Amino acid sequence: MTFPKISQSYTDPYDYPQGIAFQDGQYLMMRDAKVSVLDWGFLHSDATYDTVHVWDGGFFRLDLHLDRFFAGLQKLNMTIPFDRSEVTDILTNCVALSGYQNAYVEMLCTRGGSPNFSRDPREAVNRFMAFAVPYGSVANPDQMKRGLRIAISDVVRIPPKSVDPSIKNYHWLDLVRGLYDAFEKGAETALIVDTNGNIAEGPGFNVFVVNNGALHTPEFGVLPGITRRTVFDLCRKLDLKVSVGDVSPEFLKGGEEVFITSTAGGIMPVSTVDDVAFGNGKPGPITTRIKTLYWEMHKHPEWATQIEYPTDV
Ligand SMILES: *Cc1c(COP(=O)(O)O)cnc(C)c1O
Repeated sequence: MTFPKISQSYTDPYDYPQGIAFQDGQYLMMRDAKVSVLDWGFLHSDATYDTVHVWDGGFFRLDLHLDRFFAGLQKLNMTIPFDRSEVTDILTNCVALSGYQNAYVEMLCTRGGSPNFSRDPREAVNRFMAFAVPYGSVANPDQMKRGLRIAISDVVRIPPKSVDPSIKNYHWLDLVRGLYDAFEKGAETALIVDTNGNIAEGPGFNVFVVNNGALHTPEFGVLPGITRRTVFDLCRKLDLKVSVGDVSPEFLKGGEEVFITSTAGGIMPVSTVDDVAFGNGKPGPITTRIKTLYWEMHKHPEWATQIEYPTDV
């Protein structure tokens, strides 16, 4: 197997930020990957992206992430000069060149910019980029052990009639406002609500509540997370009941266990929601069962795609 060369202006591969990016047909040190200030991805948040993780040298459920990314491109009338297998090769090369066995891998496309400052998005040249950086988690190791402290903010998630939530996007001002609300309340992260006041999601994660032994997760106005989808699949394997639909703040707080899900961290326990505590300082039994099987499945060829790394680095 031969690997592409990294075009580099910096010689120290361990300089911050670490990782490898792909841009304009080249593999770059992460710190050399840049976008124009005039790119509408930057000026208008006119972009879509997807994030997949690599664990122990393998992508986890890469197909589902590619499905979501290509569907998002289509819904946004964006085109990239690469097909699915070419994007797979680019992502694989980013990881292989980085050498990371555990990585956070992002593919993204911005609207790009207009060569003549036209305001017509059809005239923009869309830009595809990708990168692999070290794996990161929403919850740190201490929070994984004891559970996150979450506050419910009354900030309303951008409604699906405004922005289709199935397109993974960078419209985060609502989520960031939610975070500031949560910090003010002494919590570590936030859940924000939908237009009806039911729980939607948090900054980059979905939420589940276990109530009478069955799982529930919001459906309206949320990004259909791949980790959320994976929980549905794991529930089938574990013979647990799971349903999607409205989850009111009261219903969430009345549950036995709460956990959040994201590619960045997997299945993460929650210890408090506002002033309501769950468990007694440790993750609940159902959360633990799901989390254990989730990480076990990272070794399973059904969901894991092994990466070949260069041997000479
Ligand atoms: C990415 C994301 C999630 C989690 O999705 P995964 O595919 O599980 O990583 C949840 N909500 C929002 C808003 C997101 O951007």
